[in-house]
Formats: sequence, C-alpha cells, structure tokens
Amino acid sequence: MDKIVKIIVNALRCPICKSQIDGHDMYYPNIRSTSFNFHCVSNYHDYRFWMPYDGYSVPKILYDMVDVYDGHYLYRIDQKYDINETIIDVWGVDVEHNMINEQSKIFTYQQILFDYQNTDRNKIVNRLKTVLTFQ
Ligand SMILES: [Zn+2]
Repeated sequence: MDKIVKIIVNALRCPICKSQIDGHDMYYPNIRSTSFNFHCVSNYHDYRFWMPYDGYSVPKILYDMVDVYDGHYLYRIDQKYDINETIIDVWGVDVEHNMINEQSKIFTYQQILFDYQNTDRNKIVNRLKTVLTFQ
C-alpha cells in the first residue's frame, strides 16, 4: 500500500465495531469496480468509503456509508463530503436482520451530520434518533 494511504488508513477505525480498515481495489482507483475502495475488515457493511488516490495529492474520503441496526430498523447513512449531503435510508428488519419491506424511508439533509472520527455505535444510534425525531 502507498505510504501516505497506509498512514491515513491505519489511523482510521470502523465506527461501528472499532476494527481496522482494509482496502480491496485501492490500487485501481480509476477503475471503479465497486463504489467503495476501503471498508471495515470485520464487516464490509459496517463502514465503507471511497478515497481515490492519484499518488500526488493528499487522499481524502469523498463519500462513505455506514449500516447500523437498532431494534427493528436498519439505518444506512450515506455521506457525500464534496457536496455536504447526508442521506439516511431506514428499513424495517426482522430479528435476523432481514429487510421486511423493500422500500426504505429516505431522509436527505444538506449537511454532514456524522463525524466518524470519535464516535461509536451507540453514539451513532443516538444521533440518528435525534436527527430523525425532527422529521
Ligand atoms: Zn466494523
């Protein structure tokens, strides 16, 4: 892995389970086989993000996605840093985390609502409940 990318990625942790972050197609950032090139090593869906790297400029996360389950809901938080947008998708799920309904409820905000640097699963869930209360 590129030295600068390695330093940045090693400093990051999955906000949901605190695992390390790994990359799967970071060597081909211009060939977008998937929407994300880094992810939580324990569970891909916990936390994944797109951080292109060209070898010259300092890499930045352009967007990320977090899936968090709480009670009978799956919340998918999609943040786009370049346009300051947060989209929260909410699905009803059963006890085995299977989606009950195909259609999610979608909430869009013109700001970044979550900072994944110093947080944990419970703080994210609490923030979600606060944010969604005002809908
Ligand atoms: Zn994780």
